[in-house]
Amino acid sequence: MSDNSTTPSTNNEPSLASQLALVKARVEQAAQRAGRDPAEITLVAVSKTKPFAMIAELADAGQVDFGENRLEELWEKVDEAQNVGLAEIRWHAIGTIQSRKSKLAVGPFALVHSVDTAKLAQRLSRDAQAAGTRVDALLEVNVSGEESKHGFTPNQLRTELPQLLALPAIRFHGLMTMAPLEQEPEATRPIFRRLRLLLEDLRERFPQGHWQHLSMGMTNDFEVAIEEGATIVRVGTAIFGKRELG
Ligand SMILES: *Cc1c(COP(=O)(O)O)cnc(C)c1O
Repeated sequence: MSDNSTTPSTNNEPSLASQLALVKARVEQAAQRAGRDPAEITLVAVSKTKPFAMIAELADAGQVDFGENRLEELWEKVDEAQNVGLAEIRWHAIGTIQSRKSKLAVGPFALVHSVDTAKLAQRLSRDAQAAGTRVDALLEVNVSGEESKHGFTPNQLRTELPQLLALPAIRFHGLMTMAPLEQEPEATRPIFRRLRLLLEDLRERFPQGHWQHLSMGMTNDFEVAIEEGATIVRVGTAIFGKRELG
């Protein structure tokens, strides 16, 4: 990975704060290349499998948005943050959610990125209503059409959106996608572009929706995603280093 750190910690690894600064600089440069205001892009630090101490260290360095893919782990970290008084963190649920676990996705979260079926959306709305709250979410889209990928196909969305938008206790703020893993970041550009064009299409067809967010881009390809209009990038490895598992 990078050796740009100027403040190596004792084990000669670059510090978390310097890794974060490097990623933020890359976000800004990508935004500038695309003539965009970097302030309109949210960097979600994906902390899955990483200990809470690393989150606390990054929060100290000014990082606000954190993402987790397992709801159990997300709740543990929410509790830890509460225990140490880190109230300013905004938590993002970014992983696949089984509909039988929908209750776990109703909580103090900024955004649930990964609503991938109408059934899950219905359950989230039902559970949020029962809890007297509302879920703020994104719709996950399978742009590439790969069998293995979660998410609505664009056509499914156009068909199902009237019902989805009528659900009383879930509000959709835009779209999310997981691009197929490519060696070359450039290879994902058409996927990101298609997600942006889909958002624009949905904005016209369903003006009652809140179509402000495109959550796309990870360590491998977040700069390309920003050039194609991402408003949220989800970056784990480039900030935290490699994961053992997950
Ligand atoms: C793990 C994960 C990421 C971050 O992946 P990196 O390649 O480590 O940046 C982003 N989005 C989702 C949904 C993930 O599960």
